[in-house]
Amino acid sequence: MSDLFQEENPSQSATGHKRRLKVLVPFPVEKAYDYAVPDNLDINIGDYVSVPLGGRSTYGVVWGEGDDDLPDSKVKGIREVFALPPMPASQRSHIAWVAQYSCAPIGAVLKMALSAPTAFDPPKPVMAFKRGLTKDRKISAKQQQVLDVMQDDVARRASDIAQEAGVSAGVVKTMAKNGILNTVEVFDAPPCQNPSPHHARVELFEGQRAAGEALVNAVKAEEFKPYLLDGVTGAGKTETYFEAVAQAIKQNKQVLILLPEIALSNAFISRFKERFGCMPALWHSSITPAKRRMTWRGVAMGQTKVVVGARSALFLPFKDLGLIIVDEEHDASYKQEEGVIYNARDMAIVRAHLEKLPIALVSATPSLETVHNVETGRFERLVLPSRFGGASLPDIHIVDLKADKPERQAFLSPVVIEAVREAIDNGTQALLYLNRRGYAPLTVCRTCGHRYECARCTAWLVEHRRSQKLHCHHCGYMMPIPEKCTECDDTDSLAPCGPGVERIHEEIQMHFPDARLAVLSSDTAQDNDALRKALDDIINHECDIIIGTQILAKGHHFPHLSCVGVVDADLGLHGGDLRAAERSYQMLHQVAGRAGREKGNRGSVYLQSYNPQSRVIEALASGDRGLFLETESQEREMAHMPPFSRLVAVIVKSQDEGKMQDFAKQLAMSAPHHEKLQTYGPAPAPIYKIRGFYRTRFLVHADKSVDVQTVVKGWLSSIKCPTSIKIQIDVDPQSFL
Ligand code: ADP
Ligand code: ZN
Repeated sequence: MSDLFQEENPSQSATGHKRRLKVLVPFPVEKAYDYAVPDNLDINIGDYVSVPLGGRSTYGVVWGEGDDDLPDSKVKGIREVFALPPMPASQRSHIAWVAQYSCAPIGAVLKMALSAPTAFDPPKPVMAFKRGLTKDRKISAKQQQVLDVMQDDVARRASDIAQEAGVSAGVVKTMAKNGILNTVEVFDAPPCQNPSPHHARVELFEGQRAAGEALVNAVKAEEFKPYLLDGVTGAGKTETYFEAVAQAIKQNKQVLILLPEIALSNAFISRFKERFGCMPALWHSSITPAKRRMTWRGVAMGQTKVVVGARSALFLPFKDLGLIIVDEEHDASYKQEEGVIYNARDMAIVRAHLEKLPIALVSATPSLETVHNVETGRFERLVLPSRFGGASLPDIHIVDLKADKPERQAFLSPVVIEAVREAIDNGTQALLYLNRRGYAPLTVCRTCGHRYECARCTAWLVEHRRSQKLHCHHCGYMMPIPEKCTECDDTDSLAPCGPGVERIHEEIQMHFPDARLAVLSSDTAQDNDALRKALDDIINHECDIIIGTQILAKGHHFPHLSCVGVVDADLGLHGGDLRAAERSYQMLHQVAGRAGREKGNRGSVYLQSYNPQSRVIEALASGDRGLFLETESQEREMAHMPPFSRLVAVIVKSQDEGKMQDFAKQLAMSAPHHEKLQTYGPAPAPIYKIRGFYRTRFLVHADKSVDVQTVVKGWLSSIKCPTSIKIQIDVDPQSFL
């Protein structure tokens, strides 16, 4: 990157030059560079501009007054200013803060905020049509269909007319040529401009009222205040924070609701629509470029009022934000693990702080960090006592697999099968949860013992029967399931080991040949639309038994579901990472919470385990979340682990194993150590090889009082990193793979 900026490097020369401003560009640069301000342009700090860069033109944000001491001849001029409200100072501070905290180049963080660059130019009008002259015209049947659609005199695009009227676009064009339709120009409008705070108000339930009032008052106060909104699944948390959203809308403020991507389902959107009378603006990885552009612009102009989005929505350029909600705050998907590595929940708190507004973290299973923040008085906890409307929490049964054994080559114990039978006999649904895609996680040759492993990753190949292939879940490699062993040539010798959802599906099919089954994983629900359709099918009781991965666990409300079976409750407990118990508890609790969410439909949950005495399983069975969190927290404190200390992981990657090891050794020699900070490693990453890259890890463990980012940056900048090696810094790591 640096050579692009040679021309802007400081040198000793002329003073008294033209006015200059610093412009930050969305590339991995560490700082903003000086550009000259042309006389004809009125430019202010925060403005979106275009500037020349390395022979091209790029866009950026004016970051401050220029101060480089370069001669005028060496400084290029700003080319253009876009007619947009400037990026607020609070957002610029946020970008700088995130860069500093996550040890990322500030330009890379800016890039996340400029995620729809084509939105800088005013939207172009699109061609649309209205009714024209019809008097004395011969109108064909097809044309009449079009005219029927156009009754309301609303301008439409040709493609929309054709679709609504069920005719080809050619019909519309001919009508336009003959003057039966008039051509007009229209602009697409930014989404969610007029949500109504009064559209369908609900009276808050007794137990919700105090929490609702606290949040509403916080919005009125327009000050930084973090809350934890805590209550079991179905307690009415969403309804409660909707009150605060309504208040923000009344004050003409904007609202950001962050959700894990997977929870951005129809159900949430239709609920929002019912409550506020319009769709929220959506922001996630699969919205169309046109929507992205309109939304970014609407948010920047202050027209778009409520954005519901996945973690990247945090970097939208809100003009006048009044409230942030982080729903399912414990969810691991708030952590971005690539590029700029950051935790959207934590960075949302920072944004709320800088913009002086309230933020509510919402969860039925809050993270230990958040609970710790409540206990130390940093966050205020608002608790919703019980399930709204009297639907009760499910009964939890522990199935000890050592005692209650599944049949040979099967994975469901007789108790679970009986429970499923009872559920469907009663006209309700059952869900079998297993967070494993495919048919079997491992394939072994019975003759020679060969295990099928990915050539590019430290990982077994997973058998997928649907596609008849062995897949690597890390790099996407796949091969046809071999007819004979690739090692010993024996035929019919390959055996699948362990279950994936496809195998559970097969087992269920055998027991319930007449039941309507649905398998849900990222293989079957490949995009948002497919996922939504599958979820709608479940909600509408189009299936009896659902077999699914974690794609099902979150936030969904399945009114007919009464029985949940967790095939392997021990699964998340292996791997020994810091949060294994916590994550596992959260996940199982969420899955269990899917059962019996409607009144008069008491749910039951079966957890199959070889370790029924484990703390997680016992905590789930007893329903005593407080006790679980307390012991978990004590353990972390004793081990001096987060949230009682800080961790930063440094990952060294290379395709060249030897070079990686040499470099890691070099780093180790200068690794920081002192009384309040230790560096461990290098140690090979648990998944040593991914996509052909070898990986080794350091872990820096520090007291909370240490400015660990500065220490780490100092350490890494002391050694020149060869181009064949990549270094990733992961502050507050969640994944230790
Ligand atoms: P949570 O977000 O805690 O899981 P929800 O807000 O989704 O809970 O509430 C669960 C169900 O109860 C939803 O169907 C919701 O519409 C309903 N509900 C919650 N609070 C109220 C209320 N005050 N009045 C009417 N219905 C409510
Ligand atoms: Zn692989």
